[in-house]
This record gives sequence, C-alpha cells and structure tokens, in this order.
Amino acid sequence: MSEQTANKMNNVGRPSTPNSTEQATDHPTFTGNKALQINEPLLYEVGSIGQTGVDIATPRQIKTNRLGGLDRLQTIGLYGLSEPETMRHYVRLSQKNFAIDMAMYPLGSCTMKHNPRINEKIARLPGLADVHPLQPQQTVSGAIEVIETLAEWLMKLTGMAAIAMSPKAGAHGELCGMMAIEAALRARYEQGVDTKKRTKVLIPESAHGTNPATAVFVGYQVVTIKTRDDGTVDPKDIKAALNDEIAAIMLTNPNTCGLFERDIMEIADAVHDAGAFFYCDGANFNAIMGRAKPGDLGVDAMHINLHKTFSTPHGGGGPGAGPVVLSEALAKFAPVPFVKRQGDRVTLVEHTEGTDSFGRMTAFHGQMGMNTRALAYILSHGQDGIKQAAEDAVLNANYIKAKLKDVMTPAFEEQSAGFKRPAMHEALFTDDFLKNTGITTLDFAKAMIDEGFHPMTMYFPLVVHGAMLIEPTESESKASLDLFIATMRDLALSAKNKQTNRFLGAPFHAPMKRLDETLAARKPILKWQKPQPQAEAAE
Ligand SMILES: *Cc1c(COP(=O)(O)O)cnc(C)c1O
Repeated sequence: MSEQTANKMNNVGRPSTPNSTEQATDHPTFTGNKALQINEPLLYEVGSIGQTGVDIATPRQIKTNRLGGLDRLQTIGLYGLSEPETMRHYVRLSQKNFAIDMAMYPLGSCTMKHNPRINEKIARLPGLADVHPLQPQQTVSGAIEVIETLAEWLMKLTGMAAIAMSPKAGAHGELCGMMAIEAALRARYEQGVDTKKRTKVLIPESAHGTNPATAVFVGYQVVTIKTRDDGTVDPKDIKAALNDEIAAIMLTNPNTCGLFERDIMEIADAVHDAGAFFYCDGANFNAIMGRAKPGDLGVDAMHINLHKTFSTPHGGGGPGAGPVVLSEALAKFAPVPFVKRQGDRVTLVEHTEGTDSFGRMTAFHGQMGMNTRALAYILSHGQDGIKQAAEDAVLNANYIKAKLKDVMTPAFEEQSAGFKRPAMHEALFTDDFLKNTGITTLDFAKAMIDEGFHPMTMYFPLVVHGAMLIEPTESESKASLDLFIATMRDLALSAKNKQTNRFLGAPFHAPMKRLDETLAARKPILKWQKPQPQAEAAE
C-alpha cells in the first residue's frame, strides 16, 4: 500500500474534504459514506486488542509446564472484532473490489471471462476438495485420473505430444518450457551435436514482459525482434537474427496486438532449421482453441493459462495454473512429477533418477482445484462448445472494433499487404483520437471507472502509443457489449469536445481515486503504524 493509500484509508469514516474538482463531494455526508456504500477502516483501526467472536474459558492451571521456558510473557497484540463486526468488515471491503461477477471486465491479454458456477460446484465435491497432497498415491487415484483426463484434453486441443501439469501460472509455465528447452540444448551440446553453447533468445517487442524476464531468468540474453507496421513480426527479420547462438524464439500467437501471426509456420521452419526451439506464449489460446492446433504450427512448448482459456478464476491471490504442452523433441525433459499409465493404473513418477527430466517445478502435482474447474469447463462445453467460445470471443472483439473505429483510433489497418486482417480476440486502439484534447489514456480509463466499467488494459503492448487493449471475451451478451460501446462512444465524443472536467480528476465516484500503483508496488508499506497523536490533533 502506498503512503497515499495509507493516508486515504486512515481518513475513512470521517467526512471527506470537499474539493472543487470533485463533483461527488458536492454533497459531502457526515459519515463519509456514499449512500449504502459504507466506508471501512483497517482492522487495526476498527478492532481492538483481545476482542474476539468467541469466549474461551481460562484454562485450568497446568501442573507441569512443558514449554521449556518459552512461555509468552506479553499479549501478542492482535486486533480482533466480534463475529457480526467481522462479517461487516470483510463484506464492506469486498464491496470495494470490482469483480467479473459484477460487470464487464475488458482487460486485454487477460481473458477475464465468466467463471461458470458448475465449475465451483464440482470443485467442492468432497472427494475432490478434501484430498491432501501428502496422501498416499493409492488413495488419490481418482484425483490423478481427473488431472490425467484434463491433460489428455489439453494435449488433444493443442496437438502436442506431452504435458507438464505442475506449473502454477503462465509465467511459471514459460519458465518450465524454457527449462525444458535448455535441458534439450544442454543434452545436444554434451553429445557434441552443437559445438557451441546457445546463449540467446529471440523475442518480439510486442511480447508480454514475462517473456524476456523468463529468458533472462533461465540465463539467456534477449534479442529483440521489431514489430512491423501491421502489428506482426516479419519472418525476414527473424531469419536475419537466427544463427548457432540462438536457443529459441518466444512468440505469442495470437499476439498481444490481438493479431494472428500469419507467418508462424514459415517462422517455425526457419527456427528449426537453425537448430533452435519454438516457445509459443499461449496466453491467447482462447482465441483459437478448437480451431487451430499449435502442434500443427510447429510449436515445441507452450503454456496454457487455465485462468484465461479454461475459465478458472483470476487473481485474488488464489492459486493459478499454467500447464505446459511439449513437442516430441522436448517430451522426455518434462519436469517431475508426471503420470505413467499402465493399463488401468495411473502412477505419479516423483523422482528424476533414470529419466531425462530437468527436475521439479513445484512441490506437488499441480493445483487440484484449478484442474478440476478447467476439466468441468471443458466437459460441460465439449469440443464444439470450446470452438464456439473461441469464435464468439473473436466475433465480440471485432464487433467492438467495428462499432468504435470511427470515434477511437484502431492501432492497425484492417487490410495489409493484400491480406484482410480482422482482430482476433482483442480490439487495440491508440491514443491518436485524444490528440490535442489534454486528455491521456490514463484519464480516459479513469473516467470509465465512473461509468461502472473496469478500464481496458492501458499502455500495453508497448509498440502502440497510449495503447488501449480491449478484450470483451465470449461471455458478454450483445446487450452488455452495446452498453459498453455506447459508453465508450460517449466518452470519446466528450474527449473530442474537450470536456476535460469529466476526465482530469476522474474517477469522481470511486472509493479510492488515483493511487500511485507504481510506488505501491516498488515501496510497499506492509506494516501498519499507529497514527501519531499530534497528527490527529492537527485535524
Ligand atoms: C497473462 C500473460 C502472461 C502471464 O501469465 P500469468 O498467468 O499472469 O503468469 C504471459 N504472456 C501473455 C501474453 C499474457 O497475456
């Protein structure tokens, strides 16, 4: 939390100071609450030490003290609340969160789609929810079978030979895939097939930041490939950069500009001819699942973000999952644990001895709850439903692009080099339409909050000036898309008419205004400090 946040939060529960630019405080309230939106201080501010929701009798005097002199001498000073106060505290805080179950969440490159309730119901079945990762294997063969069934679907949908189920996020999957590539190249070098160690990885400049971070983490240098004017990479540039020092390319397809890299097969061939591997960032697999198989496109490794493509919940500090599919060439280097099937029996191989596995990514065999939800999603949709989800996601993005292109500025031409180039799952705009208005992408996004929309992804991908990346996903209805479009048009026209007061101080209605997220991330204040008494007095 930034200092600003901390200060703001310390202020809650008191009437806010009217501010000339804040329309919402034209009617300041005594409590600082806004209608039925109740302000909520920190637990440290509302709670008190020693208060709890339960009464526990004072323990009997114990005859022999077995704490070996380690008795606590003071109270631990934890702040507590009664049970009804606890409920209110957390419910009020939760109301300050925006959620996919509240309204459209158009973050691009995130695929914030509906998390079906059936997933939740199945994941809560006691036989699935109550297993423990340290149970003996023979008592959890059903759970292993669930993971295996999901694994088989993912391999089938991607057309790939093998899979690692244990990585816990997209970025973690990138690490897994790149470590498999590193292991394969090391084996080749040790066998004398390669005479030189490969030290570099090609990454297009439109890539997600996790790609170069992963490459560097595994020990490679990054060679940046530029994005051409139409938003894709040029195979000529890649061929020119390929040599015996290149270990791999990390390419996202569909890419972060929301475009299909149409030269992907030519690129894959060139990469393989140069003795390198093709890592595909599969974060945008939602747009092509059921329609195209990465295995047919020459991919060697690709992560699948279950929370993007297969409807498991995003964020919130909960567990993620990023299984990685691997080609024949990389299969044997996959991390442990992996599943071995003998007839009807499935067993987990837990140790690397006698295998070529590069090692272990996580303590256990993946996130059971997420695997169960993803499988529930796949089985409830079926192969045709999965394909339809991809098609609807692409249709919705193109609908938004078509309806906004006269008031906002699409980042790329629909026609390029004789190709018709529809968007895939995302509509990408530049800030050109805000030129000379005094309004930035950030101001525009903040004004969306006042209208009840979570902003789209801003300033990413970096190759587009003032980028606004909108991904509606397949799970929005036409009515919901139309309301979003009407709102965006209204905001864009307002901006063009230089109605800056709608933007520059926005959001006016949000409980928190413009937080310094960068400062909060770089210098988090993780310890609550009691406010100084003189500060109280000065108010
Ligand atoms: C989301 C995303 C990632 C990272 O995935 P996480 O699950 O957030 O770690 C990587 N690349 C792209 C293109 C993404 O959109």
